[in-house]
Amino acid sequence: MTAPTSLHDLPDAERALLEKVGALAAGFETEAAAHDERAEIAVDSLTALHEAGLSRATLPEHLGGEGLSYQAFGEVVRVLAAADPSIATIVTMHTGAGVGLAELTREKKGSFFADEFLAGKRFANALSEPTSGNRFLNPQQAARPTEGGWLLDGAKRFVSGSEIADYLLVNALVDDAPTFFAVIPDETVSIIPIWDTLGLRATRSQLLSFSDTLLSEEHRGRAPGPGDFAAVPAGLPAISLGIADAALAALVDHAKNRAILGKPLSHQQWIQHEVADAQSRLEAVHAFYQRTLAEADAGRPEFFPNLSRSKYLANKIAVEVAQLGVRVGGASGYLKQSPIQRHLRNAQAGQLMAYSTEVLAGEIGKEVLGVVESPAENEQVA
Ligand SMILES: Cc1cc2nc3c(=O)[nH]c(=O)nc-3n(C[C@H](O)[C@H](O)[C@H](O)COP(=O)(O)OP(=O)(O)OC[C@H]3O[C@@H](n4cnc5c(N)ncnc54)[C@H](O)[C@@H]3O)c2cc1C
Repeated sequence: MTAPTSLHDLPDAERALLEKVGALAAGFETEAAAHDERAEIAVDSLTALHEAGLSRATLPEHLGGEGLSYQAFGEVVRVLAAADPSIATIVTMHTGAGVGLAELTREKKGSFFADEFLAGKRFANALSEPTSGNRFLNPQQAARPTEGGWLLDGAKRFVSGSEIADYLLVNALVDDAPTFFAVIPDETVSIIPIWDTLGLRATRSQLLSFSDTLLSEEHRGRAPGPGDFAAVPAGLPAISLGIADAALAALVDHAKNRAILGKPLSHQQWIQHEVADAQSRLEAVHAFYQRTLAEADAGRPEFFPNLSRSKYLANKIAVEVAQLGVRVGGASGYLKQSPIQRHLRNAQAGQLMAYSTEVLAGEIGKEVLGVVESPAENEQVA
């Protein structure tokens, strides 16, 4: 089958799912400010998405799901992010961890994690470490051997949705190699409540402490590889694009409705010029991202480096549109009651999530310039 190249060409079932998600997202948007204010996970919204068939849709066909295309997945995340980017972030991480564990443990556990994912159990990615920084696939914490597996004594941080997770995808060094495990949180895993942030507050991305937690041989997975559904790299650009869409909509709404000296702000030439620039660039990033997802659906290998470019561009345009919103909004956009300030806070978070725009810029720049580093230089970033 030829991969679709536009959202209009998606199969009927995927378009039906997008309609359902769109209808739910309209409701999520009305509650986004309150969830942000209280830094509260929108648990009911996550349940509604599962009940609408999102879990079954995102699980690949060979694991018993419907194998949603990358293009449709990206659109789901973008639509959710425009409504409430904390929900979009938790959905992205949950899908990455749940589908990931189903893929990685398939040889040992059969369909166990796929079945749990389909049953609505919640998954979270506990990968980032205090000392690994952005390089979350290069854990620095070594697990020590014990009967039936290894013991992890350490911490994982910024684990989105960890407080509601039934299962964690955890990595650690085993015999000096990054190794992946499923962990069922028990009394050895405790939550350190650090999450009081500027943006994406309702992700509640907490610090987890592991005190001799068993990483069992039974729950050990293989390493991720080509062909696995890359939900997190595919979803991250869409989080920023959805935030940018929401920021642009709030800006336009304000410019149309705020009148100064008898004329709406939208009649000011500087705003028209700035909006033309921001909206055109946002459209271009959307187009590049959609092309990249079409490459992914077609199984073309260039999709992975282009997802890095998509994240880099999406993170930056979201901040730029949101900053323009603050300028156009003036002091009224700066008030807590205005969505404009919330979009700016959320936009900043996209750049921080791994890989950060700085790390991506380094990788893309090196690739363009053909820079090959010595092993010693590589160690600094690995
Ligand atoms: C909202 C949110 C949700 C998250 N959810 C999850 C989750 O569910 N699971 C999870 O495991 N993690 C999650 N993370 C963690 C995230 O993906 C990063 O791994 C983590 O934020 C990196 O740590 P740090 O922000 O302290 O930055 P650091 O890595 O300490 O970076 C500090 C600065 O140094 C720069 N820098 C770092 N490394 C390099 C390098 N090699 N080259 C050049 N510059 C570099 C960065 O760009 C940044 O400017 C989340 C983070 C956020 C903000």
